[in-house]
Amino acid sequence: MAHKRIVVVGAGVGGLVAALDLAVRGMDVTVLERAATPGGKLREVHPGGTAIDAGPTVFTMRWVFEEIFADAGASLADHLTLLPAEILARHAWSGTERLDLFADAARSEAAIGAFAGAAEARGFRAFCARAKNIWLTLEGPFIRSGKPTPVSLVRSAGLTGLADMWRISPFATLASALEKHFADPRLRQLFGRYSTYAGSSPFLAPATLMLIAHVEQDGVWLVEGGMHRIARTLADLLQARGGVIRYGTHVAQIETANGRASGVRLAEGERIAADAVVFNGDSGALAAGLLGGAVRGGASVVPPATRSLSAVTWAMQARASGFPLLRHSVFFSRDYPAEFSDLFRACRLPAAPTVYVCAQDRGAADAPAPDGPERLLCLVNAPPHGDSRPLTEAEIAACETASFQLLARCGLTLERQATVTTTPENFEKLFPATGGALYGQAVHGSMASFRRPGARSKIPGLYLAGGSTHPGAGVPMAALSGRLAAASILQDSASTAMSRRTATPGGISMR
Ligand SMILES: Cc1cc2nc3c(=O)[nH]c(=O)nc-3n(C[C@H](O)[C@H](O)[C@H](O)COP(=O)(O)OP(=O)(O)OC[C@H]3O[C@@H](n4cnc5c(N)ncnc54)[C@H](O)[C@@H]3O)c2cc1C
Repeated sequence: MAHKRIVVVGAGVGGLVAALDLAVRGMDVTVLERAATPGGKLREVHPGGTAIDAGPTVFTMRWVFEEIFADAGASLADHLTLLPAEILARHAWSGTERLDLFADAARSEAAIGAFAGAAEARGFRAFCARAKNIWLTLEGPFIRSGKPTPVSLVRSAGLTGLADMWRISPFATLASALEKHFADPRLRQLFGRYSTYAGSSPFLAPATLMLIAHVEQDGVWLVEGGMHRIARTLADLLQARGGVIRYGTHVAQIETANGRASGVRLAEGERIAADAVVFNGDSGALAAGLLGGAVRGGASVVPPATRSLSAVTWAMQARASGFPLLRHSVFFSRDYPAEFSDLFRACRLPAAPTVYVCAQDRGAADAPAPDGPERLLCLVNAPPHGDSRPLTEAEIAACETASFQLLARCGLTLERQATVTTTPENFEKLFPATGGALYGQAVHGSMASFRRPGARSKIPGLYLAGGSTHPGAGVPMAALSGRLAAASILQDSASTAMSRRTATPGGISMR
């Protein structure tokens, strides 16, 4: 194998994983990251000087990282301590309506029975079986596959699999599918919320997103030291395997020669040549021309109307009392259709938002509250228009008031000491060309999942990795996209090397 020089633009999960896979296979890899730390969305902020995870907080699909570490000759368990969450999340609608979901499905079924009756518990059992079936049907031919199309999906299913494909309800919305399992609107809301993990509305997303419920059921893990540690650990392992990371390095242009990506030019003017470039920013940034005119055609334009959700987050140190917070707690609005209509139709913050609270000093089982202030991340969904229609201070303040009033109605009182607020406008600045959308394009309609670009861009030698590309957003999915980018480079360079060797008698290995 030729010793290829690879430049990776961005040290998000997808970029780090692509870089690691390539470094392990002997490639000469340099990651260029504009921020001062690795991780991208997997970021920390420091209200009152204390580090708080301000990006992803729910860690699933542990096996993805076990495979990545094993392929790099390391063991995930030696690098990260992951504790299984016994209670997946606590959900509240008021001071008296509370429901926990457990890692053990039988315990969840019993809890749902006590909360909403025996018929709903039976509905949950059927829902779990259906979610698992969707996962099993899509894992191989879609999630792990390079660039699936509806045709490739049907082909891979074969005659016997066609019935399975039909059963996964690709044409129904998640909300309508949930009506078949649950009569209680609170349960429809709870399981519909899984679409927001892909930044989408349950009223527009396909029923296939039920598979996210199965993924959670399969294991939610608490990362000792915080989620940001995943990024640091990947960065350390990459460097230990010979990769180079340069922080504070903004790539202004991806350059081409003879129609092929040939390197990058940094904002300060330095040029770095490469045999292949991996772009880990949002694919829409290429089409928006943020990486220069030469690679503008590398990916399709992402129309703002197709963007996924953004968020407003408050990372804070606060004294919490009155409600038994767990690591993951969700406080629901009363009117989910109105909430998503605000977000996607009116393009404004919801008048009555659902609020997710991650209590980072708590575990996933009931335990006494920390003595003194604790680290909390509160999140509400927000429209992804931080570039064209930034939210005003008054809009954010109104949303904050509504959010904290809901928490108070559910019994949670917060005495805040220090807060860092992040808005769609802030996310747009951190992740350019997104408008603050955090999960690539929304998965609205049965074809949306096929619209994401694959690992190979439209320009030879330029590859894509990250949550805006196939197989989609979320830490493990972005990691898988990094693996797909690395695999594509290895495959393409092997076939180039082979054709060059055939064309050059004497078998000179080309670099
Ligand atoms: C608030 C929030 C909550 C979330 N919750 C969850 C959750 O609970 N569970 C979950 O699994 N996922 C969650 N996600 C989604 C998950 O974080 C992302 O899908 C994933 O981390 C994206 O990784 P990525 O590879 O796309 O890279 P990104 O995180 O998008 O990073 C891209 C990197 O590229 C860099 N970059 C871009 N352009 C340039 C340039 N020109 N030059 C140099 N560097 C550049 C950026 O600075 C950035 O560091 C959440 C995200 C957010 C923000």
